[in-house]
Amino acid sequence: MIKPSPWQAVFLDRDGVINREREDYVKSWQEFVFLPGALEAMPRLAGLEVPILVITNQSAIGRGYVSAATVNRIHTRMQAAIAEAGGHVDQIYLCPHRPDEGCACRKPAPGLLLQAARDHGLDLTRCIFIGDSVTDAMAANAAGAQAILVRSGSQGDRLDALLAAARRSGAMSRQTPPICDDLPAAVALLHEE
Ligand SMILES: [Zn+2]
Repeated sequence: MIKPSPWQAVFLDRDGVINREREDYVKSWQEFVFLPGALEAMPRLAGLEVPILVITNQSAIGRGYVSAATVNRIHTRMQAAIAEAGGHVDQIYLCPHRPDEGCACRKPAPGLLLQAARDHGLDLTRCIFIGDSVTDAMAANAAGAQAILVRSGSQGDRLDALLAAARRSGAMSRQTPPICDDLPAAVALLHEE
């Protein structure tokens, strides 16, 4: 008998989890490079049979480095490539704002997670967010969701220290999330549960 997934949905950060993060932002499909094993991990993730939703800060839009239309085209191609590999991304939630705009959707704020929960009728305590930065864990924490962090983003080896600092500051009240090397390892961890 197949054990039902304990999760209602999986949230994924984009840059540093699915694709290689760029200091100068991903501004075209040519600059969108899947991380090793990430594309192959998507069908395995789909095996959980729950919605897979991307939650991403794209301040490059607000900064004027790339248009919202271009980012949407990049996402259409990303979803097509993932579908071709046998996986799926059901919806993409993005914050286009600059940090100084003080919006409610830029992570670590939980706005995008709350919106996704409303759209998909999710109990956030039964959702898991795979991210690469402490702000992803903080957004999950603020939304009442669980998190797994991966080292394939820019915070890499600094994650433990940054998480400890977030805990000391009170920004992380929940359980410290497990840290995996990359998306394939995080997906393997989800399958063990
Ligand atoms: Zn925003």
